Amino acid sequence: MRYDDSSPAPESHDSISPDQRWYTRRSTLAVAVAVLAPTVLAGWVLTQTLTGTEGQRPGPAPHPASHAAAADAKSSASPGAQAGAGASASASASASGPAAAPAPAKGPLTGKTVVIDPGHNTGNFQHTDEIDRQVDIGTNRKECDTTGTTTNSGYMEAEFTMDVSRRLRTILEGRGLKVVLTHEAGTARPWGPCIDERARIGNEARADAVVSVHADGVSQGNRGYHVILPAKVKAGGADTAAIVGPSRQLGERIGSNFSRTTGSAPANYLGSGTGLVVRDDLGGLNLSTRPKVFIECGNMRDSKDAAQLTSPEWRQKAAQGIADGIVGFLGG
Ligand code: ZN
Repeated sequence: MRYDDSSPAPESHDSISPDQRWYTRRSTLAVAVAVLAPTVLAGWVLTQTLTGTEGQRPGPAPHPASHAAAADAKSSASPGAQAGAGASASASASASGPAAAPAPAKGPLTGKTVVIDPGHNTGNFQHTDEIDRQVDIGTNRKECDTTGTTTNSGYMEAEFTMDVSRRLRTILEGRGLKVVLTHEAGTARPWGPCIDERARIGNEARADAVVSVHADGVSQGNRGYHVILPAKVKAGGADTAAIVGPSRQLGERIGSNFSRTTGSAPANYLGSGTGLVVRDDLGGLNLSTRPKVFIECGNMRDSKDAAQLTSPEWRQKAAQGIADGIVGFLGG
């Protein structure tokens, strides 16, 4: 571009379109060039910007795009999962899908966090002094943690809960959710955490949903799953008024999806066949400020339930059902 006109160009700021003087007055020509050149440049820049937005978005932010792609993949898997038929197929498709998913769009699960609490800890049996100490659960004081139960053949509830929780994490992360476990088996956490800390982890993560995974230990013949919902309590550090409603929604979704994927019936020994029980004596629920439920996946002391609980294939179905319930609750 050439600025060879020494005269001031008074109209240059007022005129951005070609005018007729461009053809008739040579002195105006230079002014017009001076005016038009930036205009054309601006137009070019605008065009490039728009093309970039609507097109392939060559440079910026590969990270958000891949997150959004994962979210989109989940969304497309969701109808099948919620409808029932083909839930496993759609879930496995979503597990391999995100990398190939093309459309960068925000889904309902984008940015949401799920906290999974594997009940008990395999190390608790060796740390009974530590887990027996009392902690404040708002309504009263209770043991820090418990050992959990086992099957008659010695398969520990804590092994079961950790295995299902990890499967659950894999499924949920495949749907693009952020997942936090309250503890991992092995070195980092030889026992516990205490029940008050388990609740606090969900609270501090500002979890959109929290699920504590368990299996029950009652006598032979008692079978089936049940979901435990928080009662309305207000005492000490416990105030569940805000989570009673959403926790019930979460629990109902988890129960129905769990029943569908595993084929298990609601517990035949409590809950009046609904698979839902409300309790006010669990610190993990009383101290939660986030929507939270427990699921007792079956009875480890019943031989038929135990045969299921010890099967990796069944545990995968259990994790899938819980995951579908969470995803449905979160609107995915
Ligand atoms: Zn338990």
